[in-house]
Amino acid sequence: MATIACEQLTKRYGSVVAVDRLDLTIRHGEFMVLLGPSGCGKTTTLNMIAGLEEISDGTLRFDEKDVTWQPPHKREVAMVFQSYALYPNKTVRENIAFPLALRRTPRAEIDRAVQEVAEQLEIAHLLDRRPSQLSGGQRQRVALGRAIVRKPSVFLMDEPLSNLDAALRLSMRSLIKHLHQRLQATFVYVTHDQAEAMTLADRIAVMRGGLIQQLDTPEGIYGRPANTFVASFLGSPQINLIKGEIAPDGSFARGPMRIALPAGAAAPGRAVMLGLRPEDVGAPAPGLASIEARVDLVSPLGSETLLEVVAPGDVPLTLRVAKEWRARSGDTISFGVDPARLHLFDKQTEARL
Ligand code: ATP
Repeated sequence: MATIACEQLTKRYGSVVAVDRLDLTIRHGEFMVLLGPSGCGKTTTLNMIAGLEEISDGTLRFDEKDVTWQPPHKREVAMVFQSYALYPNKTVRENIAFPLALRRTPRAEIDRAVQEVAEQLEIAHLLDRRPSQLSGGQRQRVALGRAIVRKPSVFLMDEPLSNLDAALRLSMRSLIKHLHQRLQATFVYVTHDQAEAMTLADRIAVMRGGLIQQLDTPEGIYGRPANTFVASFLGSPQINLIKGEIAPDGSFARGPMRIALPAGAAAPGRAVMLGLRPEDVGAPAPGLASIEARVDLVSPLGSETLLEVVAPGDVPLTLRVAKEWRARSGDTISFGVDPARLHLFDKQTEARL
């Protein structure tokens, strides 16, 4: 069992509040991702869970037990860092064996465990090398091996893939996801990469300024973002946010542009921001709001095409459309928008309506 409960967890560095009264319960066996921009407090949160940072205020519990003041080595957690943190003078075998050797595990048992882990991670042929003789991806596998070998119930990972190139990141991502499925342990994973968060997480905590902005499943975070910050942080290209107000007939108005909204979406006269994801557009059709726009730039991606267009009132929009769309720069196009897929935020508070 390994449920982790952060209750009003706070970290202050002098006058800087890095983590501000954070409440977060991570379930046994869950893959929780802490996602946010640089400086939002994700690493500090992870380090408090690991016991590597002293907690300024609040309580941390593992399975109900108060571990706020428990030293790291008593916490049954394994850490994996971006920098691998391998011992340069030890071989791969010795690096992986290290946590077991510390516990004075019998030699034969260590050998068996190291061999098993190395096979799982496909690094058995590298056991006699030193870290300097390995590629970045291989080093990170060794770091994962060292974490797995003592079978902890909690894995804490701080941007473990950010030093790897794009292709390797993808394959390591799927390796980590497989490991989570196989080990059935609790994972807490820090990243600023939205794609990594979306593909790995059972739930994502989106952080900003030491606070959680939204805690939800990847689908929830993407489909019902709690505010404009979360809406902008997830999605590539970014969501289009259009300032405007609610017209007397209940539609969204910005200059000459009108977009029909679901009935009763917000009160007439209210200042709002309308969110339109680039991929949530299609050909005009009955039941869809229709928008006319001038095409500024066409960027084929192969499977799809990105269009940068200018809608009435000089509103720039990015659209992601099927590759069959034959638009050229300078064309005027019409596209359809499903009112149910639009996002509406209050202009002042930036919170979802
Ligand atoms: P990154 O992705 O850049 O690592 P992060 O979201 O993990 O960012 P943290 O490293 O947790 O952010 O830092 C949160 C805040 O605390 C930042 O404003 C940072 O400058 C501050 N901070 C972190 N460590 C210290 C420290 N030792 N002394 C003072 N301020 C610190």
